[in-house]
Amino acid sequence: MGEQASTAPEKAAKGVKGARGAGGAAASGGKGAGGAAGSGGAAGSGGKRAAAKKTGAAKPATEAAAAKPAKSVKKAAAAKPAKSVKKAAAAKPAKSVKKTAAKPESRTALVRRARRINRELAEVYPYAHPELDFENPFQLLVATVLSAQTTDLRVNQTTPALFAKHPTPEDLAAANPEDVEELIRPTGFFRAKTKSIMGLAAALRDEFGGEVPGRLEDLVKLPGVGRKTAFVVMGNAFGRPGITVDTHFGRLVRRWKWTEETDPDKVEKAVGELFPKSDWTMLSHRVIFHGRRICHARKPACGACPIAPLCPAYGEGETDPEKAKKLLKYEKGGFPGQRLKPPQSYLDAGGVPAPPLGATAPPATGE
Ligand code: SF4
Repeated sequence: MGEQASTAPEKAAKGVKGARGAGGAAASGGKGAGGAAGSGGAAGSGGKRAAAKKTGAAKPATEAAAAKPAKSVKKAAAAKPAKSVKKAAAAKPAKSVKKTAAKPESRTALVRRARRINRELAEVYPYAHPELDFENPFQLLVATVLSAQTTDLRVNQTTPALFAKHPTPEDLAAANPEDVEELIRPTGFFRAKTKSIMGLAAALRDEFGGEVPGRLEDLVKLPGVGRKTAFVVMGNAFGRPGITVDTHFGRLVRRWKWTEETDPDKVEKAVGELFPKSDWTMLSHRVIFHGRRICHARKPACGACPIAPLCPAYGEGETDPEKAKKLLKYEKGGFPGQRLKPPQSYLDAGGVPAPPLGATAPPATGE
């Protein structure tokens, strides 16, 4: 963006490079584990190697946060956070947040900072993608409905058996509900979810010729399908821009002060106004990736966060670099991901496929 922001990307880039380095570390460890991803033990040993390398790789992220965050935060966020961020890195993060909030950020500065965060996240997660396994719009729609109140990992471990037995809307609509309940039991709330997915399969069969519609107004009419699910399907199965406001997205954009809204529809609107439509889908993936790997709900790993210089909430989580590194999850922590069949770009970056259902659970999941 503008010259005004010229120093921040360089500093943030240090962190990004560090994060990519962490990916590389995961690669070496990951490949060792990847061949035996079905074995939790093998994956675990690969994770340790990768995590060990990552320890060094995450250092630049800390530098980005602590070394010279003064100018970047000053220009990106607001009034004189330079000293306060240094203090935050050392001991008193609360002050920096207070000082940042003292002088309201202009709309122009907010847009610039938001877009810069998106660019940095694109560097940190060049392989960002939906974390549900799917091969067609019907599978993505069903998997998204099943993902309520559980992890994408658990859905991915469950859907292969479901889709092997009921590959089309017609098959699923005509299934024995008790059979479906058993197949999706691991995702929790399996009776209600059986009703939802069988109901939407019947609606697809009866009202849309067995095809998933690609329009928002049609998708939200399907039973169990809200705007969030509809945008996931539109963005990832039909290539139509959409912002996915899940729990991670909402939490992070509020931490970044992109909006104070809590209603998902209002968050979607507010964030959508900060970015061109063409950015919406990938922005959603990157923010959710960051929320799952680094900026966790309870313990954000601020000391290992590549976008710390741009974040008004720096210090809300662990700022000690060594302790923060231990909080990293999935490939950033050297562990398997959520997809059993991740995209090639993820594997190329050192990501490791998730183990199938029944294998030893990887230690880095849960958010
Ligand atoms: S609150 Fe989240 S985004 Fe901000 S510095 Fe901490 S981990 Fe990074």
